[in-house]
Amino acid sequence: MAPRSSKRVTPARNRGRGREGPSVVPDRAGFLPVNRRDLAARGWDGIDIILVTGDAYVDHPAFGVPLLGRVLEAAGYRVGIVAQPRWNVPDDIVAMGRPRLFCGISAGSLDSMVAHYTAFRKRRRDDAYTPGGGAGRRPNRAAIVYSNLVRQAFPGLPIVLGGIEASMRRCAHYDFWSDRIRRSILLDARADLLLYGMSERGIVEVAGRIDSGRGIEDLAGATYVSDAPAPGPLLPSWEELQSDPKALLDATLAVERQVLRADAPCSQRHAGRTIVVTPPPPPLGTAELDRIYDLPFTRDAHPDCDGPVPALEMVRWSVTAVRGCGGGCSFCSLALHQGRRLCSRSEASILREVARMTGHPAWTGSVTDVGGPTANLWGARCTSAPASCRRSSCLFPALCPHLRLAQGDYLRLLRHVTGVPGVRHVRVASGIRHDVALQDPDFLRGFVAEFVGGQLKVAPEHGVAHVLRLMRKTDFSIFERFAGIFGERSREAGREQYLVPYLLSAFPGCTMEDMRHLAEWFRRQGWRPQQVQCFLPTPGTVATAMFHAGCDLEGRPIHVARGDREREDQHALLVGGSRPHRQPRQTLSRKGLTGAVETGTPPPS
Ligand code: SF4
Repeated sequence: MAPRSSKRVTPARNRGRGREGPSVVPDRAGFLPVNRRDLAARGWDGIDIILVTGDAYVDHPAFGVPLLGRVLEAAGYRVGIVAQPRWNVPDDIVAMGRPRLFCGISAGSLDSMVAHYTAFRKRRRDDAYTPGGGAGRRPNRAAIVYSNLVRQAFPGLPIVLGGIEASMRRCAHYDFWSDRIRRSILLDARADLLLYGMSERGIVEVAGRIDSGRGIEDLAGATYVSDAPAPGPLLPSWEELQSDPKALLDATLAVERQVLRADAPCSQRHAGRTIVVTPPPPPLGTAELDRIYDLPFTRDAHPDCDGPVPALEMVRWSVTAVRGCGGGCSFCSLALHQGRRLCSRSEASILREVARMTGHPAWTGSVTDVGGPTANLWGARCTSAPASCRRSSCLFPALCPHLRLAQGDYLRLLRHVTGVPGVRHVRVASGIRHDVALQDPDFLRGFVAEFVGGQLKVAPEHGVAHVLRLMRKTDFSIFERFAGIFGERSREAGREQYLVPYLLSAFPGCTMEDMRHLAEWFRRQGWRPQQVQCFLPTPGTVATAMFHAGCDLEGRPIHVARGDREREDQHALLVGGSRPHRQPRQTLSRKGLTGAVETGTPPPS
């Protein structure tokens, strides 16, 4: 279905950093309702469900809440969106009246504390998910604040939490900003249910069950409060986590196993109360995923937005081709949120989406991404039984023999996208797994010659073996080999192209000496790294558990740069000069937001 945007051309207000085509004010009839006038325009006398989000309302499939809104709409429910409501008055929450079924709440595409603070605990001035890009339109711990607001506005209305903030805080967790173990967010928000991970199936099931008066607790991929633990693993309790830092590692690894094997519920006691985390549902199949991405997204910010939304401008012409990531990197929330099991869209569905994009009034001719968490894992699949898998990663320490790659098919897909009428360029902004790319020399040759477009993001993350092991990243020699081949293939193709390596400082286990070693490697190459992020202990990850526990996965003590001073010093070693004096900018990748500091340009490879 074609996007429903009008063709009215407007001044530069909606233009995206000089890369966009003509700006347009989209027709609000193409969006889900946000107020009573919109309800009346649709002939609705009420609403079934409201979805509250900490982000601006952007009708694009890369934005979770609007995507769930479209899924619920397609299932026949009357849905409205409340974006970035004021939290000191209920006016925005009640703008469409009391919903008949429930209220879904998400802090937005990022954990609100990650959105607001840098890795050095400094307040950010920018927010890529807000019109105009300025900070301050959502509260800290937004899921809890919005829940309180909804409970006051609509007493007794069921509240369902979702999104990354709720997902990664579903069990008791370490909170870097308060430096303590917090309870499950379900208890702090006093919500009725928490859906973790990608919740398209779950939220439709919740709506159906509430509509028919049935209970919602035993859904797959949910967390609920119970009188007693369910049969299955009992995680260390909230009290045990507070008295024994190492217990957080046991709890986090148990949750990670549950996400992969989907075998049994996990329970956790919190001071006389118990939460139960049910196993995730099977990942969506290709046909289900195709149906979701065929929904009529406008790819525009809502016309009420009072400025361009930077995050939209970054992803407007991108296409999600694959979900899930087999990497299992210890610092990444993906494995515990989306899961390691891969699910790819069909080529036909991707080509249909691209064809629709070319009809958008602001279309520029460039598809900026055909990817996902790991673009070159599109079409890959496990030929064994993930439910009995004992590995923590499909790619580390080496590629699992049961993972069947499809990089040749991915290259053909990119070429077919290039062939869609109206498409001039295709790029892969989400980057690729360089260790996986080395498995297929023909793919690498074609990809480097045709789809890099100047810069290619790769993520070696570090260069010291023991740090890489803790990260679950492959050996640095693989990156060195890849960099050499990338340079050769670029020269063969007559292109001046750059690698942009993503690197982490102050990772648990990393010392000043390790950072000096890494910095020295780049200095010898005459290469100033462009994307360096100081490790941020985000809730729920395995790396954060190591940070808190001060030991590796086997319980051996490791050095942890805990204080801001050492963290800044480690970071400064790589970015050059003294300690960082600038606020890191928000930058976006398929894996979420990073607080990277751009410090220079790598040499041509
Ligand atoms: S068997 Fe191999 S490919 Fe399959 S889930 Fe386990 S590690 Fe991944």
